Amino acid sequence: MALLDRHAAQRGAYEAIRNASADPFSVRFDSVTSPTEGVIEGRRTILLGTNNYLGLTFDPDCIEDSVRAVRERGTGTTGSRIANGSYDGHVALEKALGEYYGRKHSMVFTTGYQANLGLLSTLVGRDDHLILDADSHASIYDGARMGQAEVTRFRHNDPEDLYKRLRRLKDTPGEKLVVVEGIYSMLGDVAPLKEMVAVKKEMGAYLLVDEAHSMGVLGANGRGLAEEVGVEEDVDIIVGTFSKSLGSVGGFVVSDLPNFEVMRVVCRPYMFTASLPPAVVASTLTSLRKLQETPALRHKLHANARHLYEGLQNLGFQTGPNCSPIVAITMPDQVSAVMMWNALLQNGVYLNLALPPATPDSRPLLRSSISAAHTPEQIAEVLATVERVARELGVLAEPKRAAIA
Ligand code: PMP
Repeated sequence: MALLDRHAAQRGAYEAIRNASADPFSVRFDSVTSPTEGVIEGRRTILLGTNNYLGLTFDPDCIEDSVRAVRERGTGTTGSRIANGSYDGHVALEKALGEYYGRKHSMVFTTGYQANLGLLSTLVGRDDHLILDADSHASIYDGARMGQAEVTRFRHNDPEDLYKRLRRLKDTPGEKLVVVEGIYSMLGDVAPLKEMVAVKKEMGAYLLVDEAHSMGVLGANGRGLAEEVGVEEDVDIIVGTFSKSLGSVGGFVVSDLPNFEVMRVVCRPYMFTASLPPAVVASTLTSLRKLQETPALRHKLHANARHLYEGLQNLGFQTGPNCSPIVAITMPDQVSAVMMWNALLQNGVYLNLALPPATPDSRPLLRSSISAAHTPEQIAEVLATVERVARELGVLAEPKRAAIA
């Protein structure tokens, strides 16, 4: 067997998709002109799959501060914080995050993926237990696999199943760390966090919440689901990313756990990779401030989410269980999902094609994420295009004509 032969099945599946449509996994933007529009293959396209929830990627102040940082500090740090030192910006960003979340400890990682990789492999170890929601993000599973703790999965968003799993582990030695997400990235569904917190307290476990998709989206101050449902005090560790609401790249963790600072010298995905470049740190600091100072962005985001979610539901599509800025259409099968994704792209609407096994319940999804920066006109245009394309492809039945009395 030659190298890469082991991936023959995936290669075949990928080729079949490419033969049927544009390549959904290597879309190339000729240009991106705003948080919500770009040009793909010469065509003006509405961007509806960006995670750019607050639309801050083109914020003039974020851009200005980023440009100043690159001029003053250079293009990159060329090394890790442990070996090569921290810049003033890294320290300032950690301080700002710690203050925002009201936590003693805060660490910035080069991506959110690395934050989860580092935390899940290091917070717990041999003889400990990681209890993961079955629909956890790949970075959570990968971090679990990198560490030595025993991994148990519980049914997605099911506090009763979590309770059962923890009860079975009650008399086994070692710490128990439960991991959930605020908003789940595929269907936009929200964790029943209050119920999860009650279980973890009763069973004496720790709780980590990944607020990647809920930071800037939920909570009176945008801190995420834990703030929204009033359980911040009972969440031991919060993880997040800069690559969504904050419009840049990077990851972070905040916590009040005693001795948390030891993570800086034991967490390999923090120690053995280059730190964030000054321009990224600078724009993130500014967007974090904007997130706090501009609750109107969050209100606009929710109004836009409702417009899209209800619009798709009214057309008869199967969407996720609750309205959130992630709005996914569940498609009947892979062929129609690929065809519809492609037809939308050809008609100037870009969203994400998500195929099993990356989706819950092995269902193909057309996943969109709305932004505060979308206009009502753009959303109306998206809904009209989705309806027209879906009827042309037979994904939606033709509307019944009202009988004339
Ligand atoms: N956690 C969750 C729940 C995510 O959805 C993602 C990214 N999609 C990440 C972590 C990783 O974030 P990043 O893009 O910063 O690596």
